[in-house]
Amino acid sequence: MSGTVYLVGAGPGDPGLITRRALDLIAEADVILYDRLIPAGALDNARPDADLRYVGKRPGEPAVGQDEISRTLIELARAGRSVVRLKGGDPFVFGRGGEEAQALAEAGIPFEVVPGVTAGVAAPAYAGIPVTHRDDASAVAFVTGHEDPDKPESALDWTALAAFPGTLVLYMGVRNLEAIAEALIQAGRSADQPAAVVAHGTRPEQRTVTGALGDIAAKAAEAGLEPPAVTIVGEVARLRDELIWFERRPLHGRSVVVTRARAQASELAARLRALGAEAIEAPAIRIQPRESEELDRALEGIEDYSLLCLTSPNGAALLAEGLMRRGRDARSLAGTVVAAIGPGTAAELARFGIGADVIPERSVAEALAEALQDTPVDGRRVLVARAAEARDVLPDALRERGAEVDVVTLYETRAERLPEDRLDAASPTARAWYRSGR
Ligand code: SAH
Repeated sequence: MSGTVYLVGAGPGDPGLITRRALDLIAEADVILYDRLIPAGALDNARPDADLRYVGKRPGEPAVGQDEISRTLIELARAGRSVVRLKGGDPFVFGRGGEEAQALAEAGIPFEVVPGVTAGVAAPAYAGIPVTHRDDASAVAFVTGHEDPDKPESALDWTALAAFPGTLVLYMGVRNLEAIAEALIQAGRSADQPAAVVAHGTRPEQRTVTGALGDIAAKAAEAGLEPPAVTIVGEVARLRDELIWFERRPLHGRSVVVTRARAQASELAARLRALGAEAIEAPAIRIQPRESEELDRALEGIEDYSLLCLTSPNGAALLAEGLMRRGRDARSLAGTVVAAIGPGTAAELARFGIGADVIPERSVAEALAEALQDTPVDGRRVLVARAAEARDVLPDALRERGAEVDVVTLYETRAERLPEDRLDAASPTARAWYRSGR
């Protein structure tokens, strides 16, 4: 039986602007054929065994032809595969999705279309420009700027477009912008009409240039705006002065590399993104759990300790997991005083139903030793469970007070190399610094 082909829009670039339906289909697909302009991370939840094929343009290489793409979709579906054809924005707006659907229909292959948020609406919106407005624009036209208006065979009627009573949104037109603006003005559109170019719309690197139809091409060139970009021509472009929001966020335009270990990076990254930054998750360290006979013995006999000290959230989690793996749980610590070096460690313990009895004000070993002053340790057994590369301040202080201290290593911290794609995303300066070995 033939598989289904899903023609799916991935939205304009902001990973939050992809639809739920698109994500569900990506997660289930056998094969995904995708283009260049899909949002970062869109394929993260594809099945590990899914066949992911890039069919967009590559610099210096011929693009995979449209016929070949259509043919591949048909062949894969006939082989019974479930196929997602993922495109930037909306698949039926300048995405050649219409042609692919026609080819599928002709071949008798079942297909479904999943609309996406199109760049021509989303990029202006993120620039503070509503494409329609009760007072300023009762209609909007989506226009391809791909064609050079000077070519006699141009399919576009520039006179009709110049007279269009509403907003013009031009896709694919940055390179031809000067000729397009000229053609519109020649055909009667006012050179004074407000205009804007939005490049990399809805992405952290979004940039917008505003002007009038008569000078917008020069201004965009001067600012060095690069594709992908949409151009808005119409009175609504003026509203940006009032409605700018996305580019106003405090960290807009900045990239921040989050180097925490993977497990802890996401929360920080999410907060940075909410402030407008591009957060690149590039863990510089990795937590490597360590097993040992000492650790085994300590966990097996955990009831024999009168005090247990944990000096990091990672350690807390690994200790609790180690207990669980041995069929034990929080009850094994019923008679033990539990000390956590700080609130993060205490919170991690709490996840496993273990409440910390002692938490110092400052999260350092000296402060923990101090906070334990009133906990009797003389002649008693104490377990300090920690990272391999920790200092001996705490065990020394406890031994000095007559405690019998066992120190066990739960994990070590290893340096992690940045993956190449993350390095590519970084600025040239940051990349050089990293490669120089720091
Ligand atoms: N199907 C897509 C359009 C594909 S054509 C959609 O519905 O959005 C490619 C053109 O879309 C680009 O040349 C550019 O004009 C526009 N575009 C795509 N992503 C964009 C973005 N993030 N910001 C501005 N323009 C974008």
